[in-house]
Amino acid sequence: MAGKALIFSAPSGSGKTTIVQHLLKNNSDLGFSISASTRDRRGRTEVDGKDYHFLTPEEFKEKIDANEFIEWEEVYAGNFYGTLKSEIERVWAEGKNVIFDVDVKGGINLKKYFGDRALAIFVKVPSIEVLAQRLNSRGTESEESLSRRLFKSKFEMSFQDKFDVVLVNEDLSTSVKEAQELYEGFKIA
Ligand code: 5GP
Repeated sequence: MAGKALIFSAPSGSGKTTIVQHLLKNNSDLGFSISASTRDRRGRTEVDGKDYHFLTPEEFKEKIDANEFIEWEEVYAGNFYGTLKSEIERVWAEGKNVIFDVDVKGGINLKKYFGDRALAIFVKVPSIEVLAQRLNSRGTESEESLSRRLFKSKFEMSFQDKFDVVLVNEDLSTSVKEAQELYEGFKIA
């Protein structure tokens, strides 16, 4: 059974993952596409096979060679992320629509792959200044990493017109409501 696909992409710090998590909580007919990744699992907060399929670089490469990915990227230097064909099959077989949380390039590639079957949503912060403030207030960024992320964000912003919808995340609860309305409109279209 083939369902629909809801793609969320955004520069880092835009709040995309929080919006995706809210949609998953509020819609039992949505299933998360669990990406494969070679990055380290974050301490106790992440579960293998739930947040990601954590793979070694060798395992990841085997899957590339076996053509098991729809798309994959080296999102950060040395860290590979990819969407497995088997994940879409799994979610659709459950009779659900599949939702993706991927970077901007990945979102564009998934939209190309699924065409009208997908709604691709670009989440953005109101301005680069707001993004800088958000990243700063996390307190996790060094001066260098902050400017690297901001540089990358500016670049990624230039791809927003490749998406079906741009959602400006000024206020989280408003954005969650908007995302919910977009999903409800899309699934009956
Ligand atoms: P994190 O390491 O913070 O979990 O994710 C880093 C970035 O990789 C995020 O923008 C996330 O959306 C993106 N990402 C996660 N899974 C995939 C995937 O399968 N493909 C692509 N292209 N990006 C992904």
